[in-house]
Amino acid sequence: MAKARILVVEDSKPQADVTKEFLERNAYEVIWARDGAAAIKAAKTMSLDVILLDLVLPDISGNEVCRWLKLNNETKGIPIIMLTVKSSLKDKVASIEAGADEYLPKPYNEVELNAVIYAALRTKALQDELRQRNKQMEELLARVELLAITDPLTGLFNRRHFEVILKQELTERKRYKYDIACLMIDIDHFKRINDSYGHEAGDLVLRDTAQLLKQSMREVDTIARWGGEEFIAVMPRVNRDHAMEPASRMLHAISDKSFDLIPAEKITVSIGIACAEPGRETLETLIGAADSALYEAKRLGRNRVAFAPKEGTSEEAGN
Ligand code: GH3
Ligand code: MG
Ligand code: MG
Ligand code: MG
Repeated sequence: MAKARILVVEDSKPQADVTKEFLERNAYEVIWARDGAAAIKAAKTMSLDVILLDLVLPDISGNEVCRWLKLNNETKGIPIIMLTVKSSLKDKVASIEAGADEYLPKPYNEVELNAVIYAALRTKALQDELRQRNKQMEELLARVELLAITDPLTGLFNRRHFEVILKQELTERKRYKYDIACLMIDIDHFKRINDSYGHEAGDLVLRDTAQLLKQSMREVDTIARWGGEEFIAVMPRVNRDHAMEPASRMLHAISDKSFDLIPAEKITVSIGIACAEPGRETLETLIGAADSALYEAKRLGRNRVAFAPKEGTSEEAGN
């Protein structure tokens, strides 16, 4: 095991030498700082296990050094033992208030100093372990959280997370009065790909299609795998007139693509678009309208876009 490293902060060289000699005899590695500035620099740049800190120093007081070290994230975990000739109760309280972990009067008793250092090292080891465990737990939690919202095949958000996002967007829309377009996207005759080339080829088409769709949208848009070979997207601040452009980009990105494993096949998608409007402002009504529009795009021949009609108007389609 590596030697524990102790910083001795002491302006008197003879005093420092005595302490250093004693600590080295007890198998500690010792670093000496003669004033507060040198002590702070050492604590910031070296990995230390304990600091023995003199109260009266030539530049700043030991209590100031202590306060600084305990306020700083990188140094606050290092135990500080105050060593000083000023041994009134008031001095002791001031040091403890500054954040010192222990306080010993000078001249110190060697056995007592050794015991106090040992206790400080034990506490620090436990704290280090706890911090390490916390970090691991946080990383694990972040991974679990990401898994819970991700579709494993495509890496897109899953249906459940999409619903959460769409609900948030609909709430924001109500507040700030902006447009929202919802797109339901379905791969055409996808069953045929599975039947002719196998499930693996089908999976590959799903993964590549997911990426192409995502690349056809802006950062602020959200796309998810709705299920099977269906995808769903929400585009905030996009109205009926503006929705055709990204949808058309999607149609072309997919139909122009030559997929690995099935380079001779053309893949196309159909897209249904519904925009939020009075009477169509809930998750269910908006998605329902996009789904009906998708059905219409399929009916009109696939590889195209269809819009959910506004109240009292007839359907439109295009590609
Ligand atoms: P349409 O143009 O009317 O949408 O026809 P389609 O063949 O695409 O639609 P259908 O609903 O008949 O078939 C969808 C197929 O998608 C059936 C199912 O086996 C397949 N599928 C669903 N999920 C997956 C998956 O994760 N991987 C693969 N390889 N296939 C899947
Ligand atoms: Mg001094
Ligand atoms: Mg399909
Ligand atoms: Mg389908």
